[in-house]
Amino acid sequence: MRETVFIGFGSNVGNRLDFCDRAITLLSLLPHSEMLAVSPLYETEPVADHAHPGEGCFLNGVAQLHTDSHVLNAVVFERWPGTLVTGAQINADGTGRMDFDLSEVDNNDALRGLDAAVNDVIGRGVEVRSIYVDAGDAATTAGLVRSLSVAPPPTPDGQLRIIEIDGIDRQACGGTHLSNTAQSRPFRITKVESKGKRNRRIRFVLDD
Ligand SMILES: [Zn+2]
Repeated sequence: MRETVFIGFGSNVGNRLDFCDRAITLLSLLPHSEMLAVSPLYETEPVADHAHPGEGCFLNGVAQLHTDSHVLNAVVFERWPGTLVTGAQINADGTGRMDFDLSEVDNNDALRGLDAAVNDVIGRGVEVRSIYVDAGDAATTAGLVRSLSVAPPPTPDGQLRIIEIDGIDRQACGGTHLSNTAQSRPFRITKVESKGKRNRRIRFVLDD
């Protein structure tokens, strides 16, 4: 059965055009779906209704956390080469967590101080961009696909979307991101937990 659906998207924060561009990219990656057409972009006044106050700000918060989780991932990957991401979650309340396979780390204090390195990257204002590479090449490039749960499926012509944080990180991802790390609020690790023998869970939040 085929159904035609119309999905609205939009942003009233940050680089709105870029957010809309990314929304279109993600919608085009939905499985069992085909993008038939995209309307021209248009501008409307924000509507402050009771059900969704500040919906635009919510999108911004999610994007910030997601970009920061890439930076955290890069910092962990640099200190413990080859580390795999075993889970990640970004919450609507502005908190998030990442799980890593870090069986060789026996002291979680080594992870608690990593927010300084993440904030260093935020402070440096590093450019974030999405590029497409051949999915076959990506599979044989170490570190490019670090989490099967966030890697998008290849495009019909065999391209994989890579998020590149200039000089910091390159990895496959289908998510929404800032265009520069300087757009993020300060990043703070709130808790490090051991989840079983191998997994370490890092919980974090963005400060005002
Ligand atoms: Zn991402």
